Amino acid sequence: MSTQNLEIMMNQVDAKLSDVHIIQILKDAGLRPTRQRIFIGGLLFGQEHRHVSADILHIQISTLGQKMALATIYNCLHQFHKAGLLKQVNAVKDVIMFDTNLDYHHHFLNVDTGELTDIDESTVSIGGVPSLPDGFEAESMELIIRVKQLNN
Ligand SMILES: [Zn+2]
Repeated sequence: MSTQNLEIMMNQVDAKLSDVHIIQILKDAGLRPTRQRIFIGGLLFGQEHRHVSADILHIQISTLGQKMALATIYNCLHQFHKAGLLKQVNAVKDVIMFDTNLDYHHHFLNVDTGELTDIDESTVSIGGVPSLPDGFEAESMELIIRVKQLNN
C-alpha cells in the first residue's frame, strides 16, 4: 500500500465519530454494538465515503496496531450490509467491495488496482433497458464502467 493511501487512512481515523455515535448507528440498524462492530463502524461511518474489502480493512486495522481476524472483519461487513449500513459492489477477481455511500450512484472500476470511484448519478443517462423476465421486478440498476490505464 502506498504511503499516500496510508496517510489518507490515518486522517480518516482522526475524523472518526465518537463510540457513542457509532453505538447509536448500530442500534438503529438493529445490531448489537459489540467491540468489533464499534471499532469497524468507527473506521467506516461518518467520514468521506469509502469502498473497502475485508482485506483492505484488515490491513488498515493491523496498521492501527489492532488484531482482528480476517473472518471476523468479513462477517462484520456482511452483517453491516444485511442491516442496510453498507452497499455491496462486486469488483475485480470476485472481490466484494463494501460501499458506505448508500445513495444511488454508479462506479468506475480500475481493473488493474480494483479501486472503485463514485460516478454521480446525474451524469449518466441510460437510453433503453430490456423488458424484465416474467415474474421479476427490478431491484436496482447500477452501472460499473471498467477502466484501465492507457499504455503510453
Ligand atoms: Zn460507491
